[in-house]
Amino acid sequence: MSHSITGLPAATGSALAPAFILRTEHAVADRTPGTPEEETTLLEQSIATAIEQLQDIAAKVRDEVGEEEAGIFDAHAMFAGDPALADMAKGDIANGTRADIAVATAFTTFKEMLMSTGDEYMMARAADMDDVSNRVQAIINGVDLTVAVPSEPSVIIAEELTPSQTATLPKELMAALVTEKGSATSHAAILARAAEIPAVVGAEGIIAAVEPGTLVGVNGATGVMVIDPDEHEAEEIELRIQRESRRKESLAELVNTPGQTKDGQRVELAANIGGLEHLPLAVAQGAEGSGLVRSELVFQDRTTAPTAEEQAEFYGKALAAFPGNRVVIRTMDVGADKPLPFVNQDPEENPALGVRGVRLSLERPDLFDAQLRGLLMAYRDTTDGGRLAIMFPMVSVVSEFKAAKQRTLEIAQELGVDTTNLEIGMMIEVPVAALLADQLAEYADFFSIGTNDLVQYLFAADRLDSRLAKLAQYLNPAVIRLINQVVKGANRHGAWVGICGESASDPAMAVIAAGLGVRELSMTPTAIGEVKDTLRNLTMNQCNNAAELAMNCTTSQEVRERVMEIISEARGRLG
Ligand code: PEP
Ligand code: MG
Repeated sequence: MSHSITGLPAATGSALAPAFILRTEHAVADRTPGTPEEETTLLEQSIATAIEQLQDIAAKVRDEVGEEEAGIFDAHAMFAGDPALADMAKGDIANGTRADIAVATAFTTFKEMLMSTGDEYMMARAADMDDVSNRVQAIINGVDLTVAVPSEPSVIIAEELTPSQTATLPKELMAALVTEKGSATSHAAILARAAEIPAVVGAEGIIAAVEPGTLVGVNGATGVMVIDPDEHEAEEIELRIQRESRRKESLAELVNTPGQTKDGQRVELAANIGGLEHLPLAVAQGAEGSGLVRSELVFQDRTTAPTAEEQAEFYGKALAAFPGNRVVIRTMDVGADKPLPFVNQDPEENPALGVRGVRLSLERPDLFDAQLRGLLMAYRDTTDGGRLAIMFPMVSVVSEFKAAKQRTLEIAQELGVDTTNLEIGMMIEVPVAALLADQLAEYADFFSIGTNDLVQYLFAADRLDSRLAKLAQYLNPAVIRLINQVVKGANRHGAWVGICGESASDPAMAVIAAGLGVRELSMTPTAIGEVKDTLRNLTMNQCNNAAELAMNCTTSQEVRERVMEIISEARGRLG
């Protein structure tokens, strides 16, 4: 009889295919160690071989997937060749440790540093360290880590997939990927999304629940897997696969059309960017620029602060990706859920209420000035690239915004940069800033509403605590009314308003926001198609009605139901 297992959705799309269980060989094997000199030579040779292998994988990925994904393996080759790791291992070998054990210890030390940050992204990078460490150990021990390959398109099931396994399995044989462990921000998940392979992670118990060849239905959007579906269930999954493929085709036709309502009111649909690797996907999905470049994410792998020049190089690439469109780069929002290894912060009782975002930038002129220099250098040097907008996170009161803006203009003057066309704005994510929007708009060119934090602070509910997920109600009438107040305040001084929290990906929120006067929505790139299609089916009048109605509902469920009725009705009429 069929049954289902639910994991965490990591890459959208559905599949129905036989299970292929991928088991990872253990890199550790019995081996008689040589003298410390022989073990040191073996270590050096094995590291060189690992680097060669990783460079080969990078070349394959560069050909088959893309430049940015290939960068993951360039980075792995760099980890493998890191002199600090080799020195640490050599120290242990000199004291009589086997080369492979010494490698494992050195990598574990580095990995523990990443894990101790408690940050989800950093912890996901720990899986990369394991991947490289395993490779070097396997080479030392003469173990072949090449994974078996299925003979037909299959649902690949593994305890954990390493980035190199994900990259080396032939794409056409991966109907879907399912892992017992891992997170949606692991590189394996990132690679799956880039290659458009449905993926589910954290699916505990899946390996025990299937035999090789068992038919498995995967829904990458919900994380639900149906094991051994009956005829009726299999038919439903097949129909969903067909529906998804038709929907994808029809949304693909909209890629080059602008975000606007049926009667032509523009609402720019932009992408949220967290690293170089997100740029090609955003462009491919038709993003009209970026409404949020999370600069702290771009540099979170660094152990030392990036220089102004290093930062300018990345910002220049972000601007160049969107010729003619606006690129809103947020200054580093360090602290709370996003600590950075190169920023030492004193422990805080309540980090979410602590020195984060612009509060930290104003306390640390060394970091802030380097970032502003990098941004202004990129702005100065861009030729046919995007139009830069600089945005400050976590602003509460007018004096913080004025201080951050003043420093930006001082540095521009030092660099001789003409700021006539530079926009300087801020996020609205602290309730007090939302309430003071009319005053802040005197100084800010724009506001971008960060509903992730705004909702966290409005409801006093930690956004990282899954037990409080029910309170993350961005469609609650209180939030809609507050957004209305922000737009009204902004309009008094001609500032424009966008939304860059996750809620911007939700078609219901997009319609309400358009009705309230929000003119830019920045979201996960893959959500752009659905939001665009929704807005293009509704008139401004319908959006205004949706907004009015939402403000007068009593619960977020009621808001969603009523707005979805308006959306379905508009779609129905069209069809
Ligand atoms: C937000 O708070 O809504 C936002 C977009 O910022 P972040 O999620 O990076 O805190
Ligand atoms: Mg935020």
